[in-house]
Amino acid sequence: MKYFIGNWKMFGVPRSISILNKINLFISKDRNRKKYRVIVTPPYTLLETFSKKFKNKKIFIGSQNCYQKDHYSSNTAAISPYMIKKVGAKLTLIGHSDNRAEGDTDEIIKNKVIFALKNNLKIVFCIGENKKQKKNKQTLSVLKNQLTKVLEKKFKTNNLIVAYEPIWSIGTGKIPNQDELLITTLHIKKTLKNIFGKKTPPVIYGGSVDGGNVQKFKKIKEIDGFLIGGASKDSKKFIDIIKNYYR
Ligand code: PEP
Repeated sequence: MKYFIGNWKMFGVPRSISILNKINLFISKDRNRKKYRVIVTPPYTLLETFSKKFKNKKIFIGSQNCYQKDHYSSNTAAISPYMIKKVGAKLTLIGHSDNRAEGDTDEIIKNKVIFALKNNLKIVFCIGENKKQKKNKQTLSVLKNQLTKVLEKKFKTNNLIVAYEPIWSIGTGKIPNQDELLITTLHIKKTLKNIFGKKTPPVIYGGSVDGGNVQKFKKIKEIDGFLIGGASKDSKKFIDIIKNYYR
């Protein structure tokens, strides 16, 4: 199973549902539809309506983040995994570099993972090195650290997806070369094997994926799908990624 996950970030109002309607129509007619799963993470404001609208459809709706507490608390503007689950969302991103940049530490991220799993949300756990770390050849140690600081053997791997997102690639149009990406993906898989044993979670790639470069990623069989930012806000661009992947 491959994953195509769209992260809308700070984008979307109620009428933006038309983007998802078009993607849903494409999937329902696509002969390859059984080979992949589409998930979209709109902002919190749209979670409930979109989750309801797409309840029995081909697109799964998830959140872009969650708060590090389980249920209710007195934290202004915070949204807990419990609240996300109760409006019908199936999943949440955790540890996106945007949120790490705004203060999410490994400890905070770990709490988010624990409470999201407790509330039966699937998790897309994001990791990735920045430009300086890449330049200093620290990529592999940074990734290992990010994984081992948060993940534990007791976590259920069937509710977990790991997204490798090099920060220098997000929104820049730059992508890792094939050798680099194969090495990092294998390294992530090996680290996950050391943590979980046999049954490891899928590993997807994120960072400037579009219809023009997705074929390059296809060559690396170890990549189980994609986290797509910019190109997920336009139905044609998103559909092109799926179409070109299976070309
Ligand atoms: C992202 O922010 O998760 C992302 C992958 O963005 P983009 O596809 O625009 O690089």
